[in-house]
Amino acid sequence: MEPCEKLAGCDFYQGHMISTSGIGEMLKKRYCEAGNKANCARYQVCTQLGKEYLDNTLFPNMTDRADEMIARYKNRVMKEKQA
Ligand code: SF4
Repeated sequence: MEPCEKLAGCDFYQGHMISTSGIGEMLKKRYCEAGNKANCARYQVCTQLGKEYLDNTLFPNMTDRADEMIARYKNRVMKEKQA
């Protein structure tokens, strides 16, 4: 499986987020490098809503929060794209 194509611009992968190093490295391996981007909360928000909806408290394993954000904002994003 290919690594995530967003590695270079991802604040999580680039170490710009507060994280305990052990867990952070584990998440990088699990989501970013192992071809598991489809299950990454940041990837889901970025691709379905847009990069502007990401913040530095959203970690790859926070898919419940990603689901909530997508449910809350997807109609707004779709309207903006149509305008
Ligand atoms: S955190 Fe998610 S979006 Fe960022 S590089 Fe890893 S898999 Fe890609």
